Amino acid sequence: MNDYRARARDWLAANVPADDENGAADQVVAAAKRFQAALYDAGYAGITWPAEYGGQGLGMAEQQAFNDAAAGFDLPTSVFMIGMGMCGPTLVDLGTHEQKSRYVKPLLRGEEIWCQLFSEPGAGSDVASLQTRAVRDGDGWLVNGQKVWTTGAQFSDYGALLARTDPDQPKHKGLTMFIVDMHAPGVTVRPLKDMTGRAPFNEIYFDNVRIPGDAILGQENAGWLAAVTMLGHERVSIGGGVRRRYDPLGYHNLVAMARERGRLSDPAVRRELASLYAEERALALFNARLRQEADAGSPPGARGSVAKLAGARLLWHATDVAGLIAGLDAAAWDTTDGDELAVAICATPAASIAGGTDQVQRNIIGDRILGLPREPAVDRDVPFRELRVGTQRTA
Ligand SMILES: Cc1cc2nc3c(=O)[nH]c(=O)nc-3n(C[C@H](O)[C@H](O)[C@H](O)COP(=O)(O)OP(=O)(O)OC[C@H]3O[C@@H](n4cnc5c(N)ncnc54)[C@H](O)[C@@H]3O)c2cc1C
Repeated sequence: MNDYRARARDWLAANVPADDENGAADQVVAAAKRFQAALYDAGYAGITWPAEYGGQGLGMAEQQAFNDAAAGFDLPTSVFMIGMGMCGPTLVDLGTHEQKSRYVKPLLRGEEIWCQLFSEPGAGSDVASLQTRAVRDGDGWLVNGQKVWTTGAQFSDYGALLARTDPDQPKHKGLTMFIVDMHAPGVTVRPLKDMTGRAPFNEIYFDNVRIPGDAILGQENAGWLAAVTMLGHERVSIGGGVRRRYDPLGYHNLVAMARERGRLSDPAVRRELASLYAEERALALFNARLRQEADAGSPPGARGSVAKLAGARLLWHATDVAGLIAGLDAAAWDTTDGDELAVAICATPAASIAGGTDQVQRNIIGDRILGLPREPAVDRDVPFRELRVGTQRTA
């Protein structure tokens, strides 16, 4: 494995572009696509994905060796995060042979970008309450509704859409997941800014969007299973993955910052840095263990929620430590002048929301790992049509 790691490191040293991901959006996407195509052609994309559909068909040992090699670089691949980390693995798990043959390779090569269309204005934590409707139309479907917080939709070609196909069933049972063409007539994408000043996500409107009959991912009315499959991949992908070389809220950067500001001998700063280091290491080892167990055939299941929750708590802790080191200077940080630390700090709250909130992860851990009693749910067996959720107002 040392040879593999060394080869990957050499390839990355020769091919990772020097510029960062802060340029104009279309240039960032074009550069990311060029890099991803080269990465694929060199054999380093889709390392563990099935060879039959364009992956490398290798094991987690090679993936881990590549991750180790990549930790020394800033790979310009964040635009592919949803596709590679969530939609693609779900496609591999649940897609038909035709779907996998059509979509997996262009996704891995960076030719087509994907987004995840779950959340709605009235359905976030309780995503099974969603109201976007897909109604049969000849041999296909007609979709109407609104999605929100859709990361990367502004440059996506396809989306994994969760829609209600049978409102007479209870809320978890009448859902279906579809592959939707984001360039289809009737799809409108509008950017939403967050408090970093950037617009990483969007609201999406579907007005009579036609979806072909063979675009169901999984089975009709089994969209909840598909959603749970994707959320499982999402939590592991958020918790683990390739680390960036420059992590503004990482332990090493904060030590450098404390040194620069003459705060390294302050006992309070030292105590917090030591505790942050312990948390960072514990999470890295926990994630490595999850990956090894997955490789041995034991998927992480609800323990993905532990990784996701711990990752978010770590960011909050690092944000507090950055504030402790900077003191009153922290009040003058500005996200608009490209200060990566300021942007990372303003993005910290999002880590406790995206991919399921901290409270929802705690519910999952309590219920499925600790065996605590489940939250009461009076609406589980009621036909969705009879519920008053979100903006739905039934008589
Ligand atoms: C940066 C970012 C990127 C995102 N990207 C995407 C994306 O690409 N695609 C997509 O579909 N969605 C995306 N989301 C949306 C995200 O999944 C939702 O915001 C999240 O699931 C929470 O839903 P909500 O915002 O509707 O909050 P709500 O569900 O309304 O929650 C409000 C508050 O109530 C709490 N709460 C709710 N239910 C419970 C409960 N049962 N027990 C205890 N507390 C509870 C929550 O923890 C929260 O504090 C993104 C969000 C962010 C921040």
